[in-house]
Amino acid sequence: MLNAEVVVVGAGMFGAAAAKYLARGGADVLVIGPGGQSPSHGAPASLAPFGAHHDEARIVRRLGWDRVWGTLDTRSADRMRALEAESGIGFLTECGALALMGKGVRDRTAEMLRLAGAAGVTVEELSGTDLGRDFPDLALPPVAGGVDGLLERQSAGYLNPRLLVRAQLRLAAAAGARLVNGQVATVDKNPSPAGRWLAQGTAADGTAVHARAEQVVVATGALANQSGALPTGVRLDLHAYTEPNLLFEVPAGQLERFRDLPTVVVVDPEDRGNDNLSVYLLPPVRYPDGKWYVRTGPGMQPLVRELRTAEEMLAWCAGGTIGAEQARFLAAMTRTLIPALEPVSVRPSCCVVDKTPTRHPYIGPLGEDDGLFVAVGGNGHGARGSDEIGRLAATLVLGGQWDFPLPREVFAPVPAPAPRVSGADRPPYLTPPFGLC
Ligand SMILES: Cc1cc2nc3c(=O)[nH]c(=O)nc-3n(C[C@H](O)[C@H](O)[C@H](O)COP(=O)(O)OP(=O)(O)OC[C@H]3O[C@@H](n4cnc5c(N)ncnc54)[C@H](O)[C@@H]3O)c2cc1C
Repeated sequence: MLNAEVVVVGAGMFGAAAAKYLARGGADVLVIGPGGQSPSHGAPASLAPFGAHHDEARIVRRLGWDRVWGTLDTRSADRMRALEAESGIGFLTECGALALMGKGVRDRTAEMLRLAGAAGVTVEELSGTDLGRDFPDLALPPVAGGVDGLLERQSAGYLNPRLLVRAQLRLAAAAGARLVNGQVATVDKNPSPAGRWLAQGTAADGTAVHARAEQVVVATGALANQSGALPTGVRLDLHAYTEPNLLFEVPAGQLERFRDLPTVVVVDPEDRGNDNLSVYLLPPVRYPDGKWYVRTGPGMQPLVRELRTAEEMLAWCAGGTIGAEQARFLAAMTRTLIPALEPVSVRPSCCVVDKTPTRHPYIGPLGEDDGLFVAVGGNGHGARGSDEIGRLAATLVLGGQWDFPLPREVFAPVPAPAPRVSGADRPPYLTPPFGLC
């Protein structure tokens, strides 16, 4: 039997950051989560090993979609270089981040710029001519009415999510946190008086894990409702969606040409179903196979499917194949944005993102003062704000003073309502211009 003051379930982007801040705050912390990569294709026994951070690049910006995200992202980005220095692990590439905002949402763009300005974030506004001059290899998407270019250069580009998790866990361990490489199958009230909660599961070496704690932080990402980490009968209003990506292998002869591209998001505000052009693109990034890939992913067009059950999630994650419509869309958008790219090969990648109807992460207690907390709901772009999300979770668990400029209720976890009827209208939090990376 393991004993701790706080058990963190899930050693991903949020859990690792929370564990670091909890340990630094003086708590005796035990983190239980699978290490390493997502299992390769085949038939893994459970969902738990899959994580949204098993990749080489996540876009980093401080220009937020709203004040909540802008503040989370700015606070985290401002600490990234220090985090690299403290941990000895580099994970940030400052290639710049470009948002191509449809002119149809100019009010929103103006508000985003106002918030960024107030936070001291420098954003260059680029016209079509400016963009053509600065990024001749980038073509503008045919969004109705045109796009405005918003470019951030400083503390913007992409981070390596696996390395950021490794850095956070290293710092958590240095502050005294213990890490169990394993997965949790159940979390329930402990029947004995020693510790309010009992988390049980299996370590990577096959041995059983039993951990007692006064407090539990569930940080399992999109798998919260499906992987056994929430007590029986407890479910969040948290929805998992397929996140199909295509990776385009960049030929050696074209690498220098495209290497200096920024990360790109296209925000098409018109709700035109699968004809909506919202998309994100990562410039050439080196993957573990030694090759360089440009990677693209969608907005929340209907071709992105909700995954409702553990079986659906497992089939998607382990299947390794994206849908034909998803592939067509991503290939077409990539050709549109970088017409000169002549990929040597193209391969799919299947990941999962979690969406909350509030559009913000859930950070906080689930019940009335019983020590059960969650930190989930990255909404497809939680990597860049993960350090601050983990810090806020730790603040609440430790009973510290709330020092975020917006009330903690913004992050209040919402329990699941009755299941939605299959085929019902797409909920408003998924319709453009929202729902993008
Ligand atoms: C394809 C893709 C592209 C993205 N692009 C961006 C981007 O450009 N910029 C950005 O900021 N964000 C991006 N995101 C989102 C970002 O990666 C996520 O928001 C972030 O990883 C969320 O962190 P998390 O800790 O909630 O979840 P995860 O990183 O998924 O971590 C959860 C962890 O919990 C573990 N776990 C699950 N169940 C159990 C269990 N029962 N017991 C123990 N452990 C368990 C999992 O194995 C995993 O390690 C992207 C996501 C995807 C999938």
